Amino acid sequence: MDDIHVDVAVIGAGISGLSAACLLKKSGLSVAVLEARDRVGGRTYTVKHPTHGSVDVGGAYFGPTQNRVFRLIKELGLEVYNVNEEYRTVLYIHGSWSAYKGRLPCLRNPFSYLDQNNAIRTIDKMAAQVPLGAPWKAAKAKEWDSITVQEFIDSICWTREVKRIMKIFINTLFSSEGHQLSLLYFLQYIHGGQNFNRVSLITNGAQEKKVVGGTQQLSEGMSDWLGADVHLSSPVTSVTQDDAGAIVHTVDGKVVKCTYVISAMPLTLLSRVRFSPPLPGLKAQLIQRVPMGSVIKTNLFYSTPFWRELDLSGIAMSDNGPSATCFDDTKPDGSHPSIIAFILADQCRSLSQLTKEERKQKLCQQYAETFKCKKFLEPVGYVEKNWMEDEYSGGCYSVILPPGVLTQYGREIRKPHHRLYFAGTETATEWMGFMDGAIQAGERAAREVLFAEGKIKESEIMQDEPESEDFPATPFPTSWIEQNMPSVTAVVVSVVLAGCVAFVAVIFKMLG
Ligand SMILES: Cc1cc2nc3c(=O)[nH]c(=O)nc-3n(C[C@H](O)[C@H](O)[C@H](O)COP(=O)(O)OP(=O)(O)OC[C@H]3O[C@@H](n4cnc5c(N)ncnc54)[C@H](O)[C@@H]3O)c2cc1C
Repeated sequence: MDDIHVDVAVIGAGISGLSAACLLKKSGLSVAVLEARDRVGGRTYTVKHPTHGSVDVGGAYFGPTQNRVFRLIKELGLEVYNVNEEYRTVLYIHGSWSAYKGRLPCLRNPFSYLDQNNAIRTIDKMAAQVPLGAPWKAAKAKEWDSITVQEFIDSICWTREVKRIMKIFINTLFSSEGHQLSLLYFLQYIHGGQNFNRVSLITNGAQEKKVVGGTQQLSEGMSDWLGADVHLSSPVTSVTQDDAGAIVHTVDGKVVKCTYVISAMPLTLLSRVRFSPPLPGLKAQLIQRVPMGSVIKTNLFYSTPFWRELDLSGIAMSDNGPSATCFDDTKPDGSHPSIIAFILADQCRSLSQLTKEERKQKLCQQYAETFKCKKFLEPVGYVEKNWMEDEYSGGCYSVILPPGVLTQYGREIRKPHHRLYFAGTETATEWMGFMDGAIQAGERAAREVLFAEGKIKESEIMQDEPESEDFPATPFPTSWIEQNMPSVTAVVVSVVLAGCVAFVAVIFKMLG
């Protein structure tokens, strides 16, 4: 096999690596993208099912402020549609059922309502204090990186209902448990997506839209444009570099001689590649401390979207079974009626030991109970993907950073190693962990190479993305009441103080 000679070797044909390669090629550099799998797309994967059509078993949703995704969709001429949130959403927590329309769970217990409002308000205020791209510079970085999200939630939430709702949000956003996550990491993630509502909601949030035909087309479109520059089934095993250049070897015997290398593979998988000279100590330790989340993404198919007749959107947050969150995944033309759900974190680790059929049965039972409708017991098909067992992802959606990592090792995430630059959604400064972050990171790494080549100025490496004209973001209206409503703590303290005052007054009265 002849050696390949290019300016830049890019490792990984996910959205990030392909974004890097496209920008480099458009800027006049030659590239070779080396992809381990026999397909492009990485963590975005659209199964072309013979019966159920295109099924996104990986990354799928996007929404306002994810302007890089919108730009790519427009460039590729893809169509998008909105996730159905027309009808009622179900909240089924600790045996208590409610259905609501609107932004957030409508809680009947006034203490829960105060508690939920205070939790989200507090998270947003704290997240805004975490500098994007440099969370270790936050004034309280050390303090926030020394505790878990679970400890934080337990310290600010009083009601069992809101603690459970927050658990569902955390499981769903991070595919991990709150006790596994650093509070600082959680806050940077929220700030990277603007605020709690933007990150967690459907309408006007990160789950608002999908691509007709599936999100793998983002990578396929870029790969088609790159043509023969993309090499599939070529897992990289080593990167050797010196003053003259770099050499990349693959399992299938390819030898790529280049001037620069961009790694766009998940950070944790870097430990499988041999680097010479070796990665610096802090980087080598960082990649031992970046585990991936645990998720099985599932689709149950039905003959009709019968839940809509019950004024239900097919969206639920519940704690009564395998899945914490599910959505309606029926195609926009009404075909392939389906409910998509995520089996996450502890549930994922436990249910991955069952058979596929057993997981399917458990999900059907959960939906029948959650939506109070026995028709959910009669699916016509089931598709799932367990990302924990995926060799070239190692889990999903993204990394889950435990306490101490960001403040001790965070500065290493994007730091180049001689001719080697780092992309991948984990290295993004906005929407990290998402497809939008993958594009930002890939293009940033490409511009680092362009700067090293003297083609652009250093100040041009990081670039803001203009807002999409087609899909502008609407701010979330926060009422005066939401901004000023007391927390449960404030109410309890006031009641206790009022009780003390009343008690003292009674004593004085008794003493004459
Ligand atoms: C179930 C699930 C749901 C998700 N939901 C959403 C969502 O709704 N919205 C959203 O924005 N994001 C979502 N994500 C996350 C999103 O898919 C990722 O953030 C994004 O696709 C990451 O892109 P990437 O290019 O950085 O990494 P990857 O897609 O992981 O690409 C890295 C590539 O490197 C390759 N590779 C690995 N090792 C080697 C090697 N040794 N040699 C060569 N190649 C190698 C891999 O095969 C892969 O193709 C979800 C992910 C999953 C799995």
